[in-house]
Amino acid sequence: IHQLANQHVAAEDLLVSPLWRAEEVALPKPIEIYGRLHGELRLNSQGMDMTYIVERGPVLEAALALRVQTPEEIQVEEVDPLMRTLHAGQTRWDAVPVERRAEILTQAAELLETRRDSMIALVMREAHKTLADAVAELREAVDFCRYYAIQAKTLMRKEALPGPTGEANSLSLRGRGVFVCISPWNFPLAIFAGQVVAALVTGNSVAAKPAEQTMAIAKAFVALLWEAGVPRDVLALMPGAGETVGAALVAHPLTSGVVFTGSTGVARHIHQALAVKEGPIVPLIAETGGINAMIVDSTALAEQVVDAVIASAFRSAGQRCSALRLLCVQEECAEEILTMLKGAMHELVIGPTVEYATDVGPVIDADAQSNILAQMARIEQGGGRLLARCAWPASLLENAHATDISVALTMQDDQQRDLHFVAPCAYAISHVSQVREEIFGPVLQVVTWKAGQIDALIDAINALGFGLTLGVQTRIDDRAAHIAARSRCGNVYVNRNMIGAVVGVQPFGGEGLSGTGPKAGGPHYLLRMVAEQAVSINT
Ligand code: NAD
Repeated sequence: IHQLANQHVAAEDLLVSPLWRAEEVALPKPIEIYGRLHGELRLNSQGMDMTYIVERGPVLEAALALRVQTPEEIQVEEVDPLMRTLHAGQTRWDAVPVERRAEILTQAAELLETRRDSMIALVMREAHKTLADAVAELREAVDFCRYYAIQAKTLMRKEALPGPTGEANSLSLRGRGVFVCISPWNFPLAIFAGQVVAALVTGNSVAAKPAEQTMAIAKAFVALLWEAGVPRDVLALMPGAGETVGAALVAHPLTSGVVFTGSTGVARHIHQALAVKEGPIVPLIAETGGINAMIVDSTALAEQVVDAVIASAFRSAGQRCSALRLLCVQEECAEEILTMLKGAMHELVIGPTVEYATDVGPVIDADAQSNILAQMARIEQGGGRLLARCAWPASLLENAHATDISVALTMQDDQQRDLHFVAPCAYAISHVSQVREEIFGPVLQVVTWKAGQIDALIDAINALGFGLTLGVQTRIDDRAAHIAARSRCGNVYVNRNMIGAVVGVQPFGGEGLSGTGPKAGGPHYLLRMVAEQAVSINT
C-alpha cells in the first residue's frame, strides 16, 4: 500500500494484488475506506492518508470489448453416442496414474491464472457478475483445481491392510465410470469447474452439462482442460436444456454417478429419475437451495451486523445459495439495526456490472425477474410489510423501461442486451414459518424475537427443512456455540457475513432440503466419486 500510495492504479490491481492483500492483513485496524472503486479511493492507516486514482484496468477493458459467443446446443439424439465415447475413454483414463491426472489439474489452474483477465471478463459479461464477484469466482475455480489435485494424490494411494488373516490385503480406489455433472448459472465457472475436476481427478470421465444461461463460460473452461491435457474422449461439453439434454444424461444406462448443483425441485426430480433408470445404481451428490437465516442478539455489534447483512443478502443481487434470506433480530436492538440497515441499503448502487461503482447488478434473466416479483407479491399477500427498498440511480431510470417502476427495471446494455434489475428490498414478517420458499434474488425478510426464545427460534428455522447456511451475531461465545450445535445447517458463520466459503478450509454444503453432502471443497467430497476394491491374496 505504501509503495502504491498516490498513484494511478487499476481497480482490479486493488482487488487482487498480493501486495495489497499482504499489507491489508499486516496493517493495524482500523483501515477506513472512504471511496468507491470508480474514482478516488482514500485510505487512512495509522493516521496517514493515501489516495489512489482508480482507472479502468485490463479486465474491464476486456469485458467491455467482449461479445459473448454462446455455443450451439446439442440435441438429445447426440447424448447416446457421446456417452459411449466417454464410457470407452474412461478405462484408459482410470489407468493413468493419479499423479499425472493431478498434474493436469495443476496445469489447468495455471492456465486459469494466466488467462485471468479474459476469464474474469467473460464471467462479468455472460453471468453479469461484478468485478469483485468475478475475481472471487476465478480464485475459487483455481482453488478447486489445486485442492482436488492434492486430495486425490493422498486419497487414491493404494493402501496395504495388514491384519490377522495371514493374507496380503489391500484397498484401492478407482473411478466409477461416466459422471454426469450438472451445474447452475450462479457460479458458472467455480461450481462447474469444481464438479468437473473432482470427477476427472478420481478417474471418471465426465459429461459436463452447464446451465443454459452460462454455456460460453463452460465452453471456455472445457477447452482449457483439454489444453491442459484431459483427453477429448474423457471430457465432453453437453450444452443444452435441462429438461431434455440434462434429463437424457441422468437417465442414460452408462451414467455411473451424478453431481448436481441447482434448485431443490430439480434435485428431487433427478433423484427419482435415477431410482428407475437402467444400468448401475448410482450415487447422487446434490447441492441445492436454502432459506438461510441470521440470528442477531442484543449484544451484537450493530455496524458489524449491518455490514454482514448487506453483503450476505444483496451482494450478487442475492443470487447465491448461501445468501441471507431471513434476518432474525432480538427485539431490544431491532430499531437500531433496522434504522442502520435502511441507511446502508440507501447507499447501495444498482447498475450494470461493467461499471466499477455498481454494488448490485441485474438478476440473471427475465424469468428470474418475474419469479422474484411474484414471490414478493406473495410476501405482501401473506401480510409482509415493506421496510426498505433501494432507490434507482438516475442513470438507470433514464434508460430503462419498467415492469413496476418501484420494484423492477429492464434496460439495454452497451451491446443491446436486456439487463433485468430488481431493487433490493426488506420486508417485516411476523413469524419464521411464514417463509415458504427460497427467493433467489435481493429480497430479505425480517422477524424479531424476544429474549428467552432463542431455542424456539432455532427450532423454527430448523423446521423450514433447509439446512445450508446460518449467520450468528453475538458477543457471547457460549451462545454462538449453543446456536451452532442446535442448528441443522451445513455452514455456520459467526460475527461475519455468510458468503464466500473458501475451498479447503470452509467446506461448503447443506443437509435436508439443501443437499445430500459431502461438502464441496472438503476432505470427503472425492470419496463419493470412487469405487473401492479390496484385494486379498493368499500368500
Ligand atoms: P436449476 O435447478 O433450475 O438448474 C440447475 C441445472 O439443472 C441447470 O444446468 C439446468 O439445465 C439443469 N436441469 C434442469 N432441469 C433438469 C432436469 N429435469 N434434469 C437434469 N438437469 C436439469 O437451478 P438454477 O436456477 O440454475 O440455480 C439456482 C439454484 O441453485 C438455487 O436454488 C440455488 O440455491 C442453487 N444453488 C445451490 C448451491 C449449493 O452449493 N448448495 C450452489 C449454487 C446454486
